[in-house]
Amino acid sequence: MSPVLEVRGLCKAFGGVHAVEDLHFDLHAGERLALIGPNGAGKSTSFQMLMGELRPDAGTARFEGVDLVGRDPREIWSLGVGRTFQITSVFASMSVVENVQTALQAQNGESFDPFRRARDRRREEAMSLLERVGMAAQADRPASVLAYGDVKRLEFAIALAGAPRLLLMDEPTAGMAPKERHALMDLVSGTVAERGISVLFTEHDMDVVFGHADRIMVLDRGRLIADGAPDAVRADAKVRSVYLGSAAETGHA
Ligand code: ADP
Ligand code: MG
Repeated sequence: MSPVLEVRGLCKAFGGVHAVEDLHFDLHAGERLALIGPNGAGKSTSFQMLMGELRPDAGTARFEGVDLVGRDPREIWSLGVGRTFQITSVFASMSVVENVQTALQAQNGESFDPFRRARDRRREEAMSLLERVGMAAQADRPASVLAYGDVKRLEFAIALAGAPRLLLMDEPTAGMAPKERHALMDLVSGTVAERGISVLFTEHDMDVVFGHADRIMVLDRGRLIADGAPDAVRADAKVRSVYLGSAAETGHA
């Protein structure tokens, strides 16, 4: 089967800084691929190029054969590439279920107007997504009163509202405690397995990475230095020297 995502030669420089150089990889159907590397390695720049937020200087990124380069975020979303937005993208003045209804309406080409209440449109569909992420009991609470971990689950439900076939997640668990990180990533793993969604994600907690990735790529100063099965990456001398260090020996980096 051809890859879901084929990235070839993606480059982005900021002034003299080569943030990403010649990024190239394939992502296969149903695969959970982690992109890791030290701060400033170019992970977010890579995600932003795939999400349409940054235009690459060179390269291609084909999703199901369609090049994402040059498309805006909304077009990319409507092609079936979901992503998690940061907390600010959740409309605090709306209830939890209204946030999901609004995303469902946008996906279905209905007018997307954050100032108009979603009311009852697509409520049932929204409720089933909230059930999937364990948020049904909080459906009618204002999003503004949610605990942080629950906001993250709501963000995930909103990402699913687009019925994505590929999910891009740049630090989906940022700011969460270790236990919550595992819980969120368990939810992500279970959901993508059930729906056959492919995932590219990044994450600082190596326990979470090694627990949830089928494959791992390592970026260092904008370049890929490894791409392979978790065990092979964990054992890679170059990776250990730039990133994992001795902590990887125990599996608790
Ligand atoms: P990571 O997400 O792996 O921590 P980033 O992709 O955010 O890394 O950053 C990669 C490099 O590009 C860093 O040197 C960073 O300072 C630089 N960079 C990122 N975004 C910008 C920007 N908008 N303007 C200038 N430099 C940037
Ligand atoms: Mg980053």
